[in-house]
Formats: sequence, C-alpha cells, structure tokens
Amino acid sequence: MSLDCEACGKQHIPARYPVLRVLPDGQYEELGVCAECKPQFQPVETLFVRESAPPYTQDQRPPFWENGASLRWHEDQGFATSPVAPRDYPLIEDFEVLLEGVISKHRLGKAMPYYMAWLFSPSRGYLTYILGADELEDLCRPDFTLPPADFAHPYHDIDQNWHVLLAEDDEYVYILAGGRDGKPLFDMYHTWFKVEKNRYYQQWEQAVHQAHSLAAGLTEEA
Ligand SMILES: [Zn+2]
Repeated sequence: MSLDCEACGKQHIPARYPVLRVLPDGQYEELGVCAECKPQFQPVETLFVRESAPPYTQDQRPPFWENGASLRWHEDQGFATSPVAPRDYPLIEDFEVLLEGVISKHRLGKAMPYYMAWLFSPSRGYLTYILGADELEDLCRPDFTLPPADFAHPYHDIDQNWHVLLAEDDEYVYILAGGRDGKPLFDMYHTWFKVEKNRYYQQWEQAVHQAHSLAAGLTEEA
C-alpha cells in the first residue's frame, strides 16, 4: 500500500504520522502526514478513561505489576505441581476487573473509547488480562462465560508474546501471566497471584454490568 502525505501531497512516504489541524470553527481534523510536515501540526494525544476518575495520559497510567522473579514450569502435570505452593501466592486483596478506555483527546465526549478489561489492583497496578474476556464486546455477549479455572487441568491461553494460566480451588482463583518481555516462552511466568473466589466472580459480574451500560451509551450516542 502506498502512503501519501495529506498535507504536502508527497507520494510513497515511508511512514505517515497522525496529527491534528485546527479548522476555522475550532474543530479538529485528523490528518496523516510525512515526517517533514509533522512539526507544523498538533500531535494526536491519547487519553485513558475509567469510571469515576478524570481522563489521564499514558505517563499517568499505573505500572504493570510483576512478582520480581521468574517462574518456569510446564503446567501439563496440573496446578498442584506449581513450583510455588498455592498458599505462597500473593493474595490481591484489592483485586478489581477494571474497564479502561483509550481515546484520542480531540474525540473525547464525541466518540466511544475503546475499552479493555484488565485484571487490576489499585495498590499495585495492571496484573494481566484474559483473552476472550478482554474487550467490551466480549463482556456484552449474551453467552459470555469466564474460562474454566480447573485445578487438575489448568486453563492456559496464548496470545502474541503473552500467555495466562488459571486454576481454582475452594477458596481462591490462582492466576499466572507471562511473556511481557517480548520473548514467547510459554512456560515462563513473571506475574502470579491469587484472588479470593467470591471477590473474583463478584468483580467480573460488576464489570459485565458496567460493560452493558457503556455499550448502551454507545447506542444512544450513535
Ligand atoms: Zn508532507
């Protein structure tokens, strides 16, 4: 695909940068321009939004939490063989399922942010996410269910450079995540924790409810 600069008209540019042009009526127009034209325009700013908090920038986002060590383990033998005993998994008391939206600043209030569901701890930061339960439309599906967290046969799912594992006993849901370093080693984990079962399912229930409200807002605005 050949790229053209929408400001100077130069053709076959190697990269096109999203920028904003201020129109006479004060509205913004989004353009894709070449590197030479880029300094003449305002950059497109990305904001993050969540319920009951003012929008924030990438720099103001919480950190991604990791345990500070790596854990290597093939989960095929079942969760009982985890190199860290289940009782030693850190308990995330303030566990939340956080719906966080991302949107360009000039579209705020005019369009629907793109929402993702994060497993989150207000005191620690982002923990991980579960593929198939990470987008607003996933949570809004009438047949939405969480992946089974079976103790004998843990649930393991792989995305690009990322993987997650779930297991549960009578009291807790155990979650392990890995792959954030860009090396797709699917037996290496950097984040592991447990969440009290009632809290885990109650937080998901709340997130599904919130997702439906957000999606309903989208329909009204459209
Ligand atoms: Zn140009």
